[in-house]
Amino acid sequence: LVLMDCSDTSPGHFRDFKRDDFEAEWIKVAEGRFGHVYQVKVKLWREKCALKTFDYRSQTASKLKFKYILSIYGVCSEATGVVMEYMSNGSLNNLLASHSFMWQKKFQMIHEISMAMNFLHSAKPPLLHLNLKTSNILLDDHLHVKVSDFGLVPWEDGMCKATFMERLTARGNINYIPPEVFTECSDSPGTAFDVYSFGIVIWEILTQQKPYAGCSVTKVLLQVSKGKRPCLEMIPETRPPECDELICVMQQCWDTNPQKRPLFSDTVRKTETLNEVLKIPGTITGQRKGNAEQESKYPWMFSPNSILSMLAKKDFSSFRQSVKGDDVCT
Ligand code: ATP
Ligand code: MG
Repeated sequence: LVLMDCSDTSPGHFRDFKRDDFEAEWIKVAEGRFGHVYQVKVKLWREKCALKTFDYRSQTASKLKFKYILSIYGVCSEATGVVMEYMSNGSLNNLLASHSFMWQKKFQMIHEISMAMNFLHSAKPPLLHLNLKTSNILLDDHLHVKVSDFGLVPWEDGMCKATFMERLTARGNINYIPPEVFTECSDSPGTAFDVYSFGIVIWEILTQQKPYAGCSVTKVLLQVSKGKRPCLEMIPETRPPECDELICVMQQCWDTNPQKRPLFSDTVRKTETLNEVLKIPGTITGQRKGNAEQESKYPWMFSPNSILSMLAKKDFSSFRQSVKGDDVCT
């Protein structure tokens, strides 16, 4: 695993794309504080890619290859940008706001994020993300996850904490920053930083809400340093029992004491098991809390196979029933 500066374009390093390597049409996907994201098409490969432009003088990028990590193909120094895989379904941040997800999908996404983070942290020395948030979790055509933009807020040796905090908060990341960063004069951030951010991401996936909505940055800083965390009551009560185990993991992840937070090597085992349990048709049905008849209204009772078979049989009334309620099959 090699971490290298994007500006290094010597042979064997990142490919440096020229403007002329892309078709003329650049479609703007997003406009950020630090640059823009475009969908571009590489003439030679006939492949859509994402080009993220920004001032990358102090950035690092990596040639990591892993199923759940977004691949970087090269840089484009002419446009001061990075060329990477294009993810057709955009960010989880946008998708959570626009679609409702079934529990099974939520569990799968949480597990895939955990896999990505476990991969980064199992490098020697661990690769820290330090910018894990729902806008850096992208989804492909089949709604599988790839984590992007790690190393964008690098911790440099000798950097003062205030500068680091400034860089973090400038990106609008306040919700994902663990309290020790702004309450203690501790050392450089470690793996527990990302674990905390993961806890917040779990909450966002389970609730499909934004944490601390309507609170100012100062209020969030104050409340979080006092031990306050996103509201548990916002997690829908109509949930599979396995969700309670996930809530435990989430709470451990955002523990005030970084030492008490689990490692991704632990969380990934738990999310793997929970994800497998939810995948098995019928497993959930027998273990519902409360009245089974009432609960049959909820879509997580329907396995993807049963939904497919309803559609194949043109049994639309059952299908509509299966997607009724606050969760809709996407
Ligand atoms: P940060 O710069 O801290 O990562 P951010 O994630 O909010 O902040 P960008 O990385 O510029 O900002 O991404 C903005 C949006 O662009 C994302 O929310 C996503 O919708 C879209 N986007 C980014 N990268 C890709 C990609 N590779 N494929 C498709 N869409 C992307
Ligand atoms: Mg990003």
